[in-house]
Amino acid sequence: MHQTMNHSCDLLITADLLLTQDEQGRVIEDAAVAVSQGRICALGRRAELAHMQAAERLCLGRSLLMPGLINAHTHVSMTFFRGLADDLPLMEWLHQHIFPREKRLSAEIVQLGALLGCAEMIRTGTTAFQDMYLLEDAVALAVDQAGLRCRMGEVIFAFPSPAYASAEEGLALVRGQAKRYKNHPRIGVAVMPHTVYTTTEELLAACRDLAQELDLPLHIHLSESPAEVEACLASHGLRPVQYCRALGLLSPRSSVAHGVVLTDEELDALAESRCHVVHNPRSNMKLASGIAPVPGMLARGMLPGLGTDGASSNNCLNMFAEMSACALVHKVHSMQATACPAQSVLDMATHGGALALGWPELGKIAPGAPADMIALDLDSPNLLPLYSPVSHLVYAASGHELRMSMVDGKVLYQDGRYLSLDYPALLGEAQKLKRWVLEKQ
Ligand SMILES: [Zn+2]
Repeated sequence: MHQTMNHSCDLLITADLLLTQDEQGRVIEDAAVAVSQGRICALGRRAELAHMQAAERLCLGRSLLMPGLINAHTHVSMTFFRGLADDLPLMEWLHQHIFPREKRLSAEIVQLGALLGCAEMIRTGTTAFQDMYLLEDAVALAVDQAGLRCRMGEVIFAFPSPAYASAEEGLALVRGQAKRYKNHPRIGVAVMPHTVYTTTEELLAACRDLAQELDLPLHIHLSESPAEVEACLASHGLRPVQYCRALGLLSPRSSVAHGVVLTDEELDALAESRCHVVHNPRSNMKLASGIAPVPGMLARGMLPGLGTDGASSNNCLNMFAEMSACALVHKVHSMQATACPAQSVLDMATHGGALALGWPELGKIAPGAPADMIALDLDSPNLLPLYSPVSHLVYAASGHELRMSMVDGKVLYQDGRYLSLDYPALLGEAQKLKRWVLEKQ
């Protein structure tokens, strides 16, 4: 009368090639993946799943099915600043162009910018991201609508922001968000102090305590540029990593964005603390912040996540561009063609991101994992011929080979159409962003 759980599923997906990124690193030809209630329940060769009774079927044919990429550090709403103030050093860019405009932010602008960023990430194979911004509740609304998965965080400064009048109010806001999104299937909250130079010792300690109390991840920009290290030494007599370590901020629940300017001792300290690092190669190159010692992290058994940072310092939210940049920059920097091989880079963009987001079950196609998947068109001219799918993903793909994107078992994009977003309507709305940015200060 009833099918057993093992023989029925909500959706059966078939594709010519499946890259699982599971523990055995299996690549399966002529494959099928079964999904039920937003999770993967079975996978294998198509013939092995032929007995499955599926409510729906999705036949992808000449496609590579793989886990969705994870953008482990971004400010998704900042699409509105894309291309506004290029070719400037970090501190000048931040203090003269970004901060003055961000003072005028409204929830409507933040949400609209985030929707545009979500559309870009969906279109280029990202299914989950970690986001730090002001008025982050508006980002959550956009994420909810777009159908992506997000670890969100209200950025915490020692000074007022458009979201709060004092740091205490900021922390209370995070407390409210944690409560509001506690049972959301795709949105999780983290405590996100901005940097060591926009906070105080007391505030960082309060962030640490709040993360512990609510059992939330903590995310902070750390050691991004030589100027940050100099300022921290001048103010506290310690380098940023030493300072955060002394405050108990580095732990397995924390992830730090950038980690560019690091000594060997600091790399050892980060590895020992088991906190996660998120590497942002394109942003670091564009702002001339430096080159993070990623080979040194990998050698210590760390697996950094990979992030785009905001669209104003990249200038795109495309994880394929980020993977390529990561694989290339460390080779030329170390003059070792073996540095950051393609498999390590793909592991960073999947497993590393999952760890940084505090969502370790993401980043792989395996029974029980959330059904967050993408499919690329294997007939794209830049993907032919095919010897190694991992090589193509890192060195040849642009992200625009994407045919399908799925989060939590729901298709968000398929063959040129957004299914969760009204993209033509969003295009019209997005004109408001430019008008807002160019308004008189
Ligand atoms: Zn950032």
